[in-house]
Amino acid sequence: MLDSVHMFMKKTGQYLGLPADTIERLKAIDNEHLFKIHLNSGKSFAAYRIQHNNQLGPYKGGIRFHKSVNLDEMRALATLMSLKTAAAGLPLGGAKGGVTLDPQTLDEAELEELSRKYIAHLYPHIGPAKDVLAPDVNTNAKFMGWMMDEYEKLTGDDGQAGFTGKSVEQGGSLGRDAATGRGGVIALEDLLALEKTDDRAITLAIQGFGNVGSYFGVIAEELRPKWHLVAASDSEAAVYSAAGLSAKQLQNFKQERGRFKAYAQTNVAVISNDNLISLDVDVLVLAGLENAVTTANMKQVKARYIVEMGNGPVASEAYDYLTKAGKVILPDIIANAGGVIVSYLEWLQNKQGEHWTEDKVNRHLAKLIKQAVKNMYSSARADKLSLKQAAFAMAIQRLIEEAPGLKS
Ligand code: NAD
Repeated sequence: MLDSVHMFMKKTGQYLGLPADTIERLKAIDNEHLFKIHLNSGKSFAAYRIQHNNQLGPYKGGIRFHKSVNLDEMRALATLMSLKTAAAGLPLGGAKGGVTLDPQTLDEAELEELSRKYIAHLYPHIGPAKDVLAPDVNTNAKFMGWMMDEYEKLTGDDGQAGFTGKSVEQGGSLGRDAATGRGGVIALEDLLALEKTDDRAITLAIQGFGNVGSYFGVIAEELRPKWHLVAASDSEAAVYSAAGLSAKQLQNFKQERGRFKAYAQTNVAVISNDNLISLDVDVLVLAGLENAVTTANMKQVKARYIVEMGNGPVASEAYDYLTKAGKVILPDIIANAGGVIVSYLEWLQNKQGEHWTEDKVNRHLAKLIKQAVKNMYSSARADKLSLKQAAFAMAIQRLIEEAPGLKS
């Protein structure tokens, strides 16, 4: 995955006429924290915190608990985060963290112990002015609560602004849960409008119906009732109905730990994940993990629009093939920036001792996403770039202009 990100950075650097050593400096990672967490039960796990770049502000990035977490992925996701915060115009840098494990194999007490031990290792290197953590795959507000509590115990400092995606009771922001999905819906709405695509009756399929995917579906249902969700998947199977699915109902089903392979509703078929990718829909939303579309399945994609709600779901060769085939890909660093934008708003509220209404949070989110889509789209049109190249160019230009350490 890191190769894909570096490839896009290199191509963008060449397009911008930057010296090769500037891109090398942009690729460089500031700090890598690699360690083992040993639980009292004797189980032990590899853990990571990769701090890529803090030239624009404190490092910022999620924590993922997943069996496929590895160093290459962590480096790639940390780098993407620096580009994302830069493209969205935020005063933050980029980081990523994770632990390699299948969280289903641990009970609640072990997950808490793991979260606390993760912080016990890292606390000197993180905090509101150094590195701000957030939830990602298989982590949520509960994990942030454990981590913040451990940080405060160990440092004696107020750690509220060092963790975003907290529960509202612990100082979290209203609107954070839905923020990534909401930002994606706003970005897609604006893209379709710029493309002059009539969106009155478009069909959508969502791969990965977790936090991001399910809120994408629910917010789309709220803001764009005429978009039809026809399919959604989890890691095992997909559900499909040509007549349309209720995203809210599917979200409730998943929140009650339902598995799509056991979804039993009249007029809803259970299909394979591969089938979902190849459905003849207008928009394919990729909200699972990276490399969902690769050279192995890219030729099966029929959707004209692909929304990268996950990080790096379209591998670089597949990206080139699909864009040449006329597909329009809304890139991850813009499509899913809603999450880090509202994390930034949460950090700001915590630092200023404020608590904003959901409406105020959503208005700020919409403004920042709309601005990013508009800038990306006009630069792509003016300079004949793909949307991803245009988004990377925006990010790299900002980093170079505003980050003194990256100038030649
Ligand atoms: P999550 O754990 O809540 O959901 C992930 C979903 O993807 C789950 O439903 C899982 O079953 C499904 N999935 C995994 N592999 C799959 C496969 N091969 N096919 C179909 N479904 C599959 O995680 P999330 O927080 O929703 O994150 C999803 C993606 O969005 C990740 O790439 C993450 O880095 C990115 N992201 C998340 C946020 C955020 O705010 N949570 C912000 C920006 C980007």
